[in-house]
Amino acid sequence: METNYEIVKQLFDFIDCSPTSCHTVRAAAALMDQEGYTRLSELEDWGALTPGGRYYVTRSMSTVIAFRVPENGLKGFSIVAPHGDSPCFKVKGSPEMRADGHYTKLNTEIYGGTDPRLWYDRPLSVAGRLILRTEQGVAAKLVDIRKDLMVIPSLAPHMGGGAQQQNRPDPQRETLPLIGREETSLLELAAEAAGAKREDILSWDLYLYNRARGTVFGADDEFIAAPKLDDLECAFAAVKAFMAAENPDNCTVCAVFDNEEVGSTTRQGANSTFLMDVLQRVCKGMGLTEFDCMRAIQQGFLLSADNAHAVHPNYPEKTDPTSRTYLNGGPVIKFGSGYATDGITAGVFQHICEKAGVPVQLFYNHSNIRGGGTLGKISGSQVSIPTVDIGVPQLAMHSPYETGGAADVQHMIDAMTAFYRAKLTWKSDGECVVK
Ligand code: ZN
Repeated sequence: METNYEIVKQLFDFIDCSPTSCHTVRAAAALMDQEGYTRLSELEDWGALTPGGRYYVTRSMSTVIAFRVPENGLKGFSIVAPHGDSPCFKVKGSPEMRADGHYTKLNTEIYGGTDPRLWYDRPLSVAGRLILRTEQGVAAKLVDIRKDLMVIPSLAPHMGGGAQQQNRPDPQRETLPLIGREETSLLELAAEAAGAKREDILSWDLYLYNRARGTVFGADDEFIAAPKLDDLECAFAAVKAFMAAENPDNCTVCAVFDNEEVGSTTRQGANSTFLMDVLQRVCKGMGLTEFDCMRAIQQGFLLSADNAHAVHPNYPEKTDPTSRTYLNGGPVIKFGSGYATDGITAGVFQHICEKAGVPVQLFYNHSNIRGGGTLGKISGSQVSIPTVDIGVPQLAMHSPYETGGAADVQHMIDAMTAFYRAKLTWKSDGECVVK
């Protein structure tokens, strides 16, 4: 198997630049700025949108929606929606805690679903945004301290730790990272890294992140391991495919949402009006009516792109007995009560992949395992568009260091590119022509 080292390196660089969802948005915007995309603001009138024009808009700094206006009028919307946040620890207020007169540790809480033990004994840092007092009011500024700043030390087995610890650790007591000796101030460090003054910091959204860089491993370099493969692998693939693919009939849209890991119910999450607001403004900017917009949504398609579970080498019995998904086997279509997929939307995506020569796998939860959900169904309550849930197969989901297949990065980019280019025509509820 040929590993595309260049594309894997680009993915690792993207992950490196994306320690938080705000940084993910900045990294995606930087790629689009290089290609000459126009940045829009929800606070302004977008006026008339140019056929062939390429635009993006952000909300709350942490969600981005990019779109390309088709040349030949609007037939439908072709949307890919991954998420840009990942489970981690969030820094709380007045975070420094002195311990035993000799240490400073940080007060944190868990963001999303992760086993805190997996975060023990690895170099971590802090990134996010500082909300600063200005002469006129307040202004948020991104910050990334970008050094090995702290470690959450585990308890030695000799002192009752390790395998003797039966229960999940108490996150208020047992998973606080060690950051320095007495008198260490995280906010001083953050202010310095952001080029700001400590006394100007009013508030903050700061998160811990794993400092490890991605790596290619395996006897034949067939695997990758990196932080945040869920879901920055899909976010990276979506942005790459979105920028590469043209579609003269459909408005192609790439929406990287924040807050999927905590239920999507924020102003910038998939359960907000953001996507619908953008689609409506696109129609208005093209001189179309509300009816045209409704029709283009029903004539469209959405890939809800969020990583999927591969068969685990040590727990093969955890996967459904007949639908087996493996690393490097290509994009996974997810079925189940937590997903938006139905037989029809799965068939359309399978057909697109087949035509593009990209392998596809099917995932069903083992019947005794509840499994997860994605933003597909949540977004569907705001924009009810034909949707399929897909993802890159991976292991160790929600760990600070996750494992995937090296060939699947390119597989997903190829599948998404083919999707964006596809000419889809819904003939009826159950019939879709794919060209
Ligand atoms: Zn995810």
